[in-house]
Amino acid sequence: MAIVRANTVFEKGEHISYGACGLPYYVSDVIKDHRKMMIINVDDFAKEGIDIHFRHGVVRVVPEDNNILESKTDYTSV
Ligand SMILES: Cc1cc2nc3c(=O)[nH]c(=O)nc-3n(C[C@H](O)[C@H](O)[C@H](O)COP(=O)(O)OP(=O)(O)OC[C@H]3O[C@@H](n4cnc5c(N)ncnc54)[C@H](O)[C@@H]3O)c2cc1C
Repeated sequence: MAIVRANTVFEKGEHISYGACGLPYYVSDVIKDHRKMMIINVDDFAKEGIDIHFRHGVVRVVPEDNNILESKTDYTSV
C-alpha cells in the first residue's frame, strides 16, 4: 500500500491491496481473474472513511509541514 496522509491513500498505480504473494499463481494461470488477488477494494476502504487516490504518485514528503505530502496526478509510470 502506498503512503497515507490521515485518511487519504495515494497509489501511483491502478490497484490497491493486491496480494503480491499470489503473482506466481496468476502468472501460471492457477488464478485466472486478477481481481481475486485484490484483498480489500475501494468500497471497503470507503466504508472505513479512507479515501483512495489512484494514479497519484507521491513525489515528496514534507514532514515539517504537518505531514502534508505533495503528489503528482496522472502518474504514467506504473
Ligand atoms: C512473488 C511474490 C511472492 C510473495 N510471497 C510472500 C509470502 O508468501 N509471504 C509473505 O509474507 N510475503 C510475500 N511476498 C511479499 C509481500 O507481498 C510484500 O511484503 C508486500 O506486498 C509488501 O506490501 P507493501 O504494501 O509494503 O508494498 P507493495 O505491495 O509493494 O505496495 C506498494 C505500493 O505502493 C505504490 N507506490 C510505490 N511508490 C509510490 C509513490 N511514490 N507514490 C504512490 N504510490 C507508490 C506501488 O504502486 C504499490 O502499489 C511476496 C512478494 C512477491 C512479489
